[in-house]
Amino acid sequence: MEPEDFLCDFCGRPWPVAQPFVEGHQGSCLCGQCLTTALNAFVTNDVEPICGDLCTMCLEARKEPAWSITAPAQSPPDRTTVRVCKPCSTQAKRTLERDPESGWKRPVANT
Ligand SMILES: [Zn+2]
Ligand SMILES: [Zn+2]
Repeated sequence: MEPEDFLCDFCGRPWPVAQPFVEGHQGSCLCGQCLTTALNAFVTNDVEPICGDLCTMCLEARKEPAWSITAPAQSPPDRTTVRVCKPCSTQAKRTLERDPESGWKRPVANT
């Protein structure tokens, strides 16, 4: 697999363009920009209330809000909506913050 083969599951941009990147289960990926959008959505409550659907990152159905968007065109046909639960977004935030090379900064509203 080349870096170009990794696409953000949420915006569809390839890894080299969409750095930094966090990997979930089964090759699902979330880029820093989408993570920022997700974190802001949790702050403004612009998220799905309680959905019984699986989080794209952890593949678990959480009994709590999740940020979701329509999947980019390159996604597998069975994935029409992609979502990230709060625990996953928190974990992704920690992962990127621990990596000084990621250059990622948490959204101001999310401190
Ligand atoms: Zn993205
Ligand atoms: Zn999750």
